[in-house]
Amino acid sequence: MSDLHIGPIEILIGENQSRTPFSTSLLIKGKESDAFIDCGAGEAVFDYVKREHNVQDIYVTHYHLDHIWGLAEFPESLVWINERDLPKFSDLDEIAKANGYFAIYGEEEGKEWVRGLREEAGARKRGHYSWSSVIGARKAIYPYDREIELAGTRVVMLHAPGHCEGFCCPYFPDYGILHVGDFDLTAFGPWYNNADSDIDDMVLSAKQTLLVDAELYVTSHQKGVVSRADYQRLLETYMGIIDRREEKVNRAVRQGMPPEQLIHQEVFYLQKNVQQTPRLLVFEKMGIAKHLRRLIKHGEPIQDYYESYLTAHGMHGEFVDYVHTPSAATPSGVGELNRPSKGERK
Ligand SMILES: [Zn+2]
Repeated sequence: MSDLHIGPIEILIGENQSRTPFSTSLLIKGKESDAFIDCGAGEAVFDYVKREHNVQDIYVTHYHLDHIWGLAEFPESLVWINERDLPKFSDLDEIAKANGYFAIYGEEEGKEWVRGLREEAGARKRGHYSWSSVIGARKAIYPYDREIELAGTRVVMLHAPGHCEGFCCPYFPDYGILHVGDFDLTAFGPWYNNADSDIDDMVLSAKQTLLVDAELYVTSHQKGVVSRADYQRLLETYMGIIDRREEKVNRAVRQGMPPEQLIHQEVFYLQKNVQQTPRLLVFEKMGIAKHLRRLIKHGEPIQDYYESYLTAHGMHGEFVDYVHTPSAATPSGVGELNRPSKGERK
């Protein structure tokens, strides 16, 4: 079923050309067992992988649902996560906080949202998995920025924060492949609308994807596999969308637009899409808050406007930015969390 084979790596485009909630997966063929990167490609891919391969290890680039919702299809596999995502994969409250639900609804209602997730997990059926299925999975931590082996193939999980704090891009030095994931080059533009997103980090991380000696870039959604030259060109247009959004926000603020109206200016989402899917408004509000904070950080004297924006939308400013600082107790490096490892834990 492969869309593309390069050495031991098979690139598996998801359902509906990997449009969210689907995403592209990489399968790495090993001698005895195989590894899988990201798990949201859809049932046809899951069925193929279960039938034809022996996936023992699944690596997730970050905690977003469209990259992990299929994990429950592979209950025997060990799920490898990064240390930044560990709190979220251990506690649904952290997912709500990192997503921005605490910023939008406050702590109490944010926890209500989490309770909904738990109920959803209780009644889940195929194709309707939630984060809850990950909390109970057998997990291990992969390290950032140093060489590891996935089913015998060398990989470096390059930490590329911004889209969310834990996001990373698997790099295959032996094959010149960089899996850039949610640097997806879509017309929508970069997505940084969670509490644990950071626009400046995303800009920096985008530049870093070009410092890697890669010839093929694999995106998680729609675009698929592109050459280095195409990636470089498309990335510039894609990242340029950030400036256009920021100009739009800044212009509205300078013109004295009431903060109530700012969320209806299609900075991110088209009004018709918000009407169809009202929860997109959560991410519209968060994205605009991120731009306002960035404008302040870059010297615009709009602190008062930002405060009014939060008040106008009933937002909780203390939760707009979520950063998990790994504590000394956070395991780093390679090691399984839920049961004694086979002597590899340092
Ligand atoms: Zn994502």
